[in-house]
Formats: sequence, structure tokens, C-alpha cells
Amino acid sequence: VSAGQQLPEPNWAARPRPARTRDTDFWWDGLAAGELRIQKCLACARLQHPPEPLCQTCGSDRLGWTVACGLGRVFSFVVYHEPRIRDWTYPYVVAVVALDEGTRVIANLTGASADEISVGDRVQARFPSAGAEHALLAFEPVSS
Ligand SMILES: [Zn+2]
Repeated sequence: VSAGQQLPEPNWAARPRPARTRDTDFWWDGLAAGELRIQKCLACARLQHPPEPLCQTCGSDRLGWTVACGLGRVFSFVVYHEPRIRDWTYPYVVAVVALDEGTRVIANLTGASADEISVGDRVQARFPSAGAEHALLAFEPVSS
């Protein structure tokens, strides 16, 4: 990719379907509904991601979720060129995003060129469809 060229849109439907569990159903259902749902402990109010069967802070099994606003900042990122997987598009960027709510998620970052992305950039969630009743999480830059 030459300087300034926008990353190609990933072929979302080529991504393997995740294994769903009782602990992660709310996450996948949220993405399909256009919501970024983050697990929240009903005992101590701590947010955690990825979803777990128990609160990693207080040990409670009383867990629910809250809808995050979808805004955050790039905490870290990598640009993938290899290894090549059939039907995927390259390069692609995977970022650790620090959400405004105070937890971090990992997702693709789209809508920019790889050399424009910097740690600290303001980003916003999007929910690309990856097939019937299945969506994924991605982020794209927004002006801060
Ligand atoms: Zn807790």
C-alpha cells in the first residue's frame, strides 16, 4: 500500500464465525443490533472485556452488560501483511481501542490509510455485517 492509500474494506463474511457461549451471546447479539455491549458486574459495577463467567475484580457471578457509546482512542495497533489467508484483504489494521467508558477492546480499524493511524487517534465503532444475523466490531477514525 502506497502512502496515503486507504486500507481496503475487509471481506467480513470470510471471517470464521465465533464460538458463542452463554457468556458471550450478549456481545454478538449486541453487534448484530448495532450496539457495543460491555460486560458489567452488578455487584461492584466494574466493566470488563472480554466477557468472563465471573467478575475479575470481586468474583461475583452477577454479571450484566451496558451499552458503550462506541467512542474511544487508539491505544495500540498493528498492520497485518502476512500470513495470507484466502479471501481476506491485505493489509489490514487491528487496534486496541481504549473506550471512553474505561475498558479496552480489540477490533479492526478501517477508513484510513495505515500510515495515517496514530496512537491516541479518536475512533468510533461500526458494525459491519458478516452474514445473516452476524456482525463484527470495527472502528473508524473520527475528528477529535
Ligand atoms: Zn465485581
